[in-house]
Amino acid sequence: MAKEYFYTCVNCSASYSNTRIHYLCPKCAKDNTDGTALKGVLKVLYPYDTIKAKLNEESDYLKKSDYLDLLPIENYSSWPPLLVGKTPVYSSNQALNASDKFSLHLKVESSNPTFSFKDRASALVSAFAKENGIQTIVAASTGNAGSSLAGICASQKQKAIILVPQKAPKAKLTQVLMYGAQLIPVQGNYDQAYDLSLALTEKKGWYNRNTAFNPLTIEGKKTVSFELYEQLIQLPDHLFVPVGDGVIIAGVYKGFEDLLALGLITKIPHIFAVQAEGSSNLIDNLNTENPVFKAASTLADSISVDIPRNYYMAKDFLNRYNGEGIKVTDSEILEASQLLAGQFGLFVEPAAASAYAGFLKFKHKIVKNEEVVVLLTGNGLKDIASVSSVLDFPDAVDLKHFNADLY
Ligand SMILES: *Cc1c(COP(=O)(O)O)cnc(C)c1O
Repeated sequence: MAKEYFYTCVNCSASYSNTRIHYLCPKCAKDNTDGTALKGVLKVLYPYDTIKAKLNEESDYLKKSDYLDLLPIENYSSWPPLLVGKTPVYSSNQALNASDKFSLHLKVESSNPTFSFKDRASALVSAFAKENGIQTIVAASTGNAGSSLAGICASQKQKAIILVPQKAPKAKLTQVLMYGAQLIPVQGNYDQAYDLSLALTEKKGWYNRNTAFNPLTIEGKKTVSFELYEQLIQLPDHLFVPVGDGVIIAGVYKGFEDLLALGLITKIPHIFAVQAEGSSNLIDNLNTENPVFKAASTLADSISVDIPRNYYMAKDFLNRYNGEGIKVTDSEILEASQLLAGQFGLFVEPAAASAYAGFLKFKHKIVKNEEVVVLLTGNGLKDIASVSSVLDFPDAVDLKHFNADLY
């Protein structure tokens, strides 16, 4: 039996059936021009009552079936043959002051196949493509979405075409080429690569994985919330998420919203959108109808975004569930990055470290016995240039004049 799910527009609430591929709501997308956040991003909704009835018969059927009923694919045989998601949570009170009586949980997404959170979205888009006989997938990316799609497509024998700003970190570009994808560097920034990828989708008919534009990116990313629901004894009181385009945070909310619709949880956790001072367009525009976006500048390339594409949906979630914005400076990000590596052995990329920096900023307000989760979205080896500036690489030993007393 074909899956019963449908799409609904976050701006106008129009519904669309699942009988064909959807990107944006065609009515609202008419208002989109170059340089605006996307109107008409679609949310995928499921027959929650049917699922609830099944849960009443067998309370752990969703868990046993890996939440397949809450994904827009028919079965897991179309899923990439790699371990996507199911990432570890490290719980610790280590390195916290004795007076801090809360629990800190670090959800580490570096263990995904291409070392970032983006694999959750790429896997679902790729599986959907497979089920629908689509062979070529295109994406614009600051680096991670592209390297992710390239790796996932390699594992699925699909063709990936990746547009990136030419200044993307070398490691991410190296990944794209190693996975055998077609790399199209763009003389310009991410936003220009984004627009070019849309033009190519229209001209060539390739399936498009652009974040937010393809609603399955949100659906893939929501799986992290199902995992947190299972991995933690209780839901987090505070959850820190790094934000660029606002798709990861929307995914996190959507996952919890699905669980709420099924009565599996009773409230949505308090979520922080953490942005860099130099790239805070989403949280600077939470209370306005007419957003004004400024050019972004931060060393955390994965969250350096001029136009937060998923602005409307992310804003709606944050406002509806009392989410909060926090800004961190680049030097706070670097400091957080060193702390995570030095205190926990977790070397993450700057965007991921920003979530930890946000946590450090808020820490004094955390109440006893609260549960705190920080989402660490990508691996540190993806961008070593950013942290190199704060490291002292020792000179090589001159063996003729070696002096053990110096060490
Ligand atoms: C993409 C990305 C983010 C931000 O996700 P958005 O959906 O753009 O908000 C954060 N961290 C890493 C490592 C990423 O790759």
